[in-house]
Parts: sequence; structure tokens; C-alpha cells
Amino acid sequence: MTDSASSASVTPRTTSEITCPKCGARHSEVMPTDACLYYYECTACGAVLTPKAGDCCVFCSYGSVPCPPVQLAGRCCGDAEARGH
Ligand SMILES: [Zn+2]
Repeated sequence: MTDSASSASVTPRTTSEITCPKCGARHSEVMPTDACLYYYECTACGAVLTPKAGDCCVFCSYGSVPCPPVQLAGRCCGDAEARGH
């Protein structure tokens, strides 16, 4: 037991299930906590997935769980500078 508040120690989920928009195949992938995955190749159909407009990584666009930085802060690396369009 610890005395820290439960809401102050959120641990992001690091496994996301990517659904391929082309063939519908689902892939459970472990997400890096310190980097974004911008390209993901579907091993079922060979399609290379890239994030949708406004998303920082393929997990945010196609995963069942957004990437860890988004889970914690609601945004991801580079997003603050890229806003405006
Ligand atoms: Zn696919």
C-alpha cells in the first residue's frame, strides 16, 4: 500500500490492438512509451498504415488504445508545434 493518490499514478497501457483499415486484420502490438510509430505494415495484407490527419501515430488512428503520451497528456510529441492547420 502506498499513500499516493490513485489518480496521480496513472500507468498508461502499452499494448494496443491495431485494426487494419484495408483488410480488417487485427494485430496486438506493444507501444514504445518514448516514441511514436508513424508507419505500420500490416502483416496480413502488406498495407503500410500511416496516421490520419490530426493523429500523431498509427495507434491513435487505428489502435484500440492511443499511444502512451496521449493517454497521459492528451497529446503527443510534436503536436503542439504542428497545430494551426
Ligand atoms: Zn491489412
